[in-house]
Amino acid sequence: MTLPSYLEGGWRTGAGEGTPVADAVTGELVTRVTSDGLDLAAAVTYARRTGLTALGELTFPQRAAALKAAALALQERKQELYDLSARAGATRRDAAVDVDGGIGTALVYASLARKGLPDHTLIVEDDLIPLGKGGTFAGRHVLTTPRGISLQINAFNFPVWGMLEKLAPALLAGLPTIVKPATPTAYIAAHAVRIIADTLPPGAIQLVAGGIPGLLELLGGQDHIGFTGSAATAARLRADPAVTRRSARFNAEADSLNCSVLGPDAVPGQPEFDLFADALVTEMTVKAGQKCTAIRRAFVPAHLIDPVSEAVEARLARVVVGAPGAAGVTMGALVGLAQRDDVRAAVARLSEAGSIVYGDPHKVEVVGADAERGAFLSPLLLRADDVDRPEPHEVEAFGPVSTLMPYRDTAQLAELIARGDGSLAGSVVSHDRDFVRQVVLGAAACHGRLLVLDRDSAGESTGHGTPMPQLVHGGPGRAGGGEEEGGLRAVHAHLQRTALQGGPEILDAIVN
Ligand code: NAP
Repeated sequence: MTLPSYLEGGWRTGAGEGTPVADAVTGELVTRVTSDGLDLAAAVTYARRTGLTALGELTFPQRAAALKAAALALQERKQELYDLSARAGATRRDAAVDVDGGIGTALVYASLARKGLPDHTLIVEDDLIPLGKGGTFAGRHVLTTPRGISLQINAFNFPVWGMLEKLAPALLAGLPTIVKPATPTAYIAAHAVRIIADTLPPGAIQLVAGGIPGLLELLGGQDHIGFTGSAATAARLRADPAVTRRSARFNAEADSLNCSVLGPDAVPGQPEFDLFADALVTEMTVKAGQKCTAIRRAFVPAHLIDPVSEAVEARLARVVVGAPGAAGVTMGALVGLAQRDDVRAAVARLSEAGSIVYGDPHKVEVVGADAERGAFLSPLLLRADDVDRPEPHEVEAFGPVSTLMPYRDTAQLAELIARGDGSLAGSVVSHDRDFVRQVVLGAAACHGRLLVLDRDSAGESTGHGTPMPQLVHGGPGRAGGGEEEGGLRAVHAHLQRTALQGGPEILDAIVN
């Protein structure tokens, strides 16, 4: 029952009892997770020697071909990943966000690299920059593969997407990856690695199920650490000497009190009114709200808060909570009972600032499962009329929870948005250009991504909560201050930029 780790090209099982992981729906034991006794130092050496060498022998398009092969292998067997995801509480729609989202991201990266990167292992960023009047001295920037590894530490909510969106740029950059999945869903990530391991060059991927004691001590300036998870863990890792003293590159994607804003023009009867209510309910219920980009703060004009609340409540009343796959179920379970306790505690704090207008944190009707054995929770809509209270701007309830708040005007709105202290994603739902422009200009500095939603773009819109591989994902401040994806930017971020100086001919000879 112990989940093995994939290290040095083989599956190895840690010692001891390990941490039990229960089925989110039935409470039955799924697996135990432990890395006790595994030789993580040998894994790092294997990555540095075998992985780095194998990837270094491939040009960018060849690495892209390996990435594509991995994505296609997952595509072939994605039903297995859906089945495992159901044990973590995910409905088919939830699993598609993680599994198909991850495969799609890897395929986009493979395509971007094939079209946009040279048939080489080095990228030349710019033309010759003259540095002397006589034309004999110049400079230019090149990007090369560091002599290191990529360690990715992932959150529990996206075991497949989270792994692939970090693996893709690292692999293309020529860095071997060690994956450390979150314990509650490590069995899903491990299965994905089982599917892709043979499609990748030796040493390109390894996975540690369980803790990684001592591993950061082995990392330094040539290595990249990509973290996704809570702000508290991000702060701990950021303070590690691997980062503070030895300058390992560190990118954090942390939690975020994302907002959505309804424009004053979007009164009942306008398409934007419904788009706003639909988006809010979608974000509350997909993955049972366990999404770092989900809407936590919904700002609406003061005169519209009653009709908006009624519209959202009516939609939430149609949500059917229960076992993934059971008839009619539209929202699954949280990942586990501990997570449900955390969300209930966060809701109790949020309730100090307002009232729950839909749902009961301790009661939910469940289809096809036992409400107490499984980690089920009702969607919970709160309303906080006193927008100056700190809780809605500070407390992240990582579940199907959102708070409605009124605003007076765009000046107050900009202040309220900024109180989230930096977010991954925000949205403005309005058909009034001036309003949208004012909100976006006021809020952009607090966001990694902003979506404008209106009747014209709704048909093709990818929605508030979906990061796109072509666009940056990350956010300032509380959101971690990092940046992932964004097309080839993410590949560049894994490479070392070096300014070369010398005569034009020798510089040409080097880069060609
Ligand atoms: P978490 O408790 O911070 O854990 C995240 C990862 O860090 C897990 O793999 C965890 O491993 C690992 N970890 C914890 N302590 C560590 C240490 N001392 N050294 C090395 N690794 C350590 O977060 P979570 O509960 O999994 O995820 C939920 C949070 O993630 C939410 O706050 C959410 O907002 C955020 N999130 C952000 C994004 C984003 O893109 N910005 C995406 C998804 C989620 P174990 O599980 O083994 O403890």
